Amino acid sequence: MRIIYVDVDTLRADHTTAYGYHRPTTPNLRRLADKSVTFDRYYCSDSPCLPSRTALTSGQFGITNGVIGHFGQAAQFRLDAGHGPEPDRPLLGQRLGWGGYYTAAVSVFAERHRAYFFHGNFRESIRATDRFGDEEAQDVNRVAIDWIRRHADQDDWYLHLTYWEPHTDYTQPSEWTERMAASGPVQAWPDEETIQAHTEVYGPRSALDLHYSLTGPGRSPVPHNMPDAIRSRADFEHLVNGFDGAISYWDHHFGLLMATLEELGIAQDTAVIVSADHGESFGEMGSYAEHGLANEPTHRLPLVVYWPGVTDDLPEQARRNDALLYNIDLAPTLCDLLGLSVPAGWQGESFARAVRGEETESREYLVLGHGAHTYQRAVRTRDHLYIRTYHPGCFRAEWEQLFDVTGDPYLTRDLLDAEPELATRMRSHLSEWWHRYAGRPGCLPDPMQTTLQTGPTHYNDPVRYAQHLRDTGRSHLAEDLEERLATLNVPVSWHAPEIPQTPRLLGRWQQIRQERAAHGEQHS
Ligand SMILES: [Zn+2]
Repeated sequence: MRIIYVDVDTLRADHTTAYGYHRPTTPNLRRLADKSVTFDRYYCSDSPCLPSRTALTSGQFGITNGVIGHFGQAAQFRLDAGHGPEPDRPLLGQRLGWGGYYTAAVSVFAERHRAYFFHGNFRESIRATDRFGDEEAQDVNRVAIDWIRRHADQDDWYLHLTYWEPHTDYTQPSEWTERMAASGPVQAWPDEETIQAHTEVYGPRSALDLHYSLTGPGRSPVPHNMPDAIRSRADFEHLVNGFDGAISYWDHHFGLLMATLEELGIAQDTAVIVSADHGESFGEMGSYAEHGLANEPTHRLPLVVYWPGVTDDLPEQARRNDALLYNIDLAPTLCDLLGLSVPAGWQGESFARAVRGEETESREYLVLGHGAHTYQRAVRTRDHLYIRTYHPGCFRAEWEQLFDVTGDPYLTRDLLDAEPELATRMRSHLSEWWHRYAGRPGCLPDPMQTTLQTGPTHYNDPVRYAQHLRDTGRSHLAEDLEERLATLNVPVSWHAPEIPQTPRLLGRWQQIRQERAAHGEQHS
């Protein structure tokens, strides 16, 4: 079997035609979905980019594989030195390689995130350009199509492709944006009143700080595709038009890729899987064009699986599956479909039955983790989402929240106080999951704890951001952020070396010396 895995960074499922979006963003993905199985409740166990792809290709949750964030100890893949891969927990590509598959990737993901273990998945690892991400789809296609042409007469290969549209910034030519803008209205939520309320939500990529980054405040680098800030409906519509334009730009190139398979006569003999590493918030919880929270829009992924000879002739009702699934389930599913044994150390469960159109059982709940902009874990049941914040980073993130996602898809009503029994049940799910993966003999420490004291502050320093809030007339929000972080402000620990603590320590030692000196004076 030939297999192409198409990884589209930040592709939000409900903005694709395959998932019923009212704009024609993805006609080519839709065409693939017509002969595939589309999964409605497929989530990345860990977000954003690095934790998600590490979970996908290691078959393990971040709490076990070690990668829950983008920096420092929160981003250390647990791979001991030694000879050869680990037999019980190989990478997906290694397992496929032992099974006789030739593996290759066109991806700069490993370079972007220093995820060099990712190369271990592939016999060939090709970078289409010398960039560190944000490659144009045409560059990825140029190399991918060349590779496919050279391997079209061979069987049993696995090709992983990483596309970067529609990750910010939306760099597609403006005609793609204009075409989407003309194709139908932007969703009605958030209205003007909600957008005004969101000016009180702070954080990088919040309404007023849409372009605040490592380098401080900024303006839109692509004003034709993204506004400077979200101050009105018009700004919001501008932003969504840019996002949808980026998606349709990617889909056009995906169509060229699919046309190549047709031209080479291998379309009916090549499995194609389309998914993303994470989604994106568009106003939910006051976050815009960002994947910085363990919430529904960030964690829900599209998943379309075309498997030749299996999904072609399924009855319509078997083409949709709504079992609660993780992206770590994909690796065992591929092994299952290919007749390969599943390594014992993988933590996902095969959903091959669903690909074959058979009845499947669903988990009761999923646990989702984020560790790059905030530290959060969430519990997703069929209807509800419970979010626990361990460190808010620079975000206005509440310590606990509870939403009815089915009835309130934009996450506007926190039910924590109104539904105490439900909240208790969700906490118990989280605790049960944690004990299973970090609280039993043989478990490794939870990587979210290793840098909890300093938090996910590499992208944004809270001290600098609080100053920015003051500089822009929002002192009350700066105080709110400082209050949230003050509860974390315990004395320094040598076990949290993420940010050099020496200057703070020097200050504290000085303070102690002064106090002692003052006492000495009193006693003399
Ligand atoms: Zn990403």
